[in-house]
Amino acid sequence: MPTFHAPRGTRDLLPAERASFDRLSAIAADLSRRYGYAGIETPMFEQTAVFERGVGAVTDIVEKELFRIQPRTDEAESWSLRPEGTAGVVRAYVQHGLRTWPQPVRVQYVGPMFRYDRPQAGRYRQFWQWDVEAIGDAGPGIDAEIVELGHRFYTEAGLSDVRVLLNSIGDPTCRPPYIERLTTYFERHRATLPDLEQARLRTNPLRLLDSKDPDMAALIADAPRIVDHLCDACRAHFDAVCEHLDALAVPVRIEPSLVRGLDYYTRTAFEYYREGAEGQQQALGGGGRYDGLVELLGGRPTPGIGFALGLDRVVLALAEAGAERARPARPAAFVASAEAGDTVERLRIATQLRRAGVSARADLGGRKLGRQLEQASREDAHFAVILGDELREGTVQLRDLRAGTQHPVPLTDLAREILRDEASHRHG
Ligand code: AMP
Repeated sequence: MPTFHAPRGTRDLLPAERASFDRLSAIAADLSRRYGYAGIETPMFEQTAVFERGVGAVTDIVEKELFRIQPRTDEAESWSLRPEGTAGVVRAYVQHGLRTWPQPVRVQYVGPMFRYDRPQAGRYRQFWQWDVEAIGDAGPGIDAEIVELGHRFYTEAGLSDVRVLLNSIGDPTCRPPYIERLTTYFERHRATLPDLEQARLRTNPLRLLDSKDPDMAALIADAPRIVDHLCDACRAHFDAVCEHLDALAVPVRIEPSLVRGLDYYTRTAFEYYREGAEGQQQALGGGGRYDGLVELLGGRPTPGIGFALGLDRVVLALAEAGAERARPARPAAFVASAEAGDTVERLRIATQLRRAGVSARADLGGRKLGRQLEQASREDAHFAVILGDELREGTVQLRDLRAGTQHPVPLTDLAREILRDEASHRHG
């Protein structure tokens, strides 16, 4: 048994798995470019108050799951690792006065989030999200842009059966009377509520709709639905979001019990699931409108909307769907030589190739030629560059390991020839 382990609920992404994350990050980057979302980076920890206020004090995330950093004795401030991305981005928007920029400010980043939760399949204490935010536009068009962008990500990642569950959770005009109605409804059934739900009824009744407790399913199905109690402005906004999404042919299902766990959401709320996989740990991503958040964090009233897609779950879903795994990049060339000990020449020529833009490997361990070539095949190199006596005349053998052909090439042409052949393979 090794002495040390990665902390519970965290994983090392070894190169094969890391390649899957890199692939997803590249898709996110390309979509961001096409849709016009600029990169942003905020710290992985913030003042705890940013999350307490920004996420909501009576949410699981803050009550139970916040990774609080033990303060040093000379440090008065309380810090926490970020459990989600929006609060930090909005804090940055306020701090840097981004309301003077053209609105909305569209930003995005991929990074790790931390939640001190009970680890299980698909639920980790450190996990990765692609976080996308558009701040400064009240919608409804931007709502549809964002919802479609998230859906597009899954499609391009290779998941073709992802559906959007959509709801409106109202605003400060229509939500309080709705919550009263909801509270009255659940109060009538208080005796049958599980303990956790009884406590939630006091602190955050909306959350009861979020309950995945099977005993709650029937009660939730009969509960008053917020979509039936929206004020006129929220109703018009919701209808317009649906109309825009319809025009984009995004597969949407209205889900009246979808409320999302976070306090700061207003109006549009959505989650992404694969068809037939709508269980507790199966949300692939989610988001919503947060028109009150900028003000909560000290800015002027400013609307905003965003999403966070969980990359770990996408990697799991792709494996489940039998998608081909992303692989670490293969080398174009593997430099081998007849002279087992001649690591100087091998490294020199590999370095020349690398400087010319070729991805090249060389065996630096002094193995025999046969073993070097075995390694070249194991690494799935396209070419073996074989150094022999003719190196004195400035020539090497270039063996195409896939085609099984070989011919001499002057060193001066080597990089060019490999690059040309690689390019024709890519495009051919
Ligand atoms: P949330 O803000 O909780 O809706 O999270 C957004 C997305 O992040 C979820 O839909 C999941 O895909 C992912 N996610 C949230 N919590 C975890 C976790 N503990 N482990 C892995 N993925 C998570």
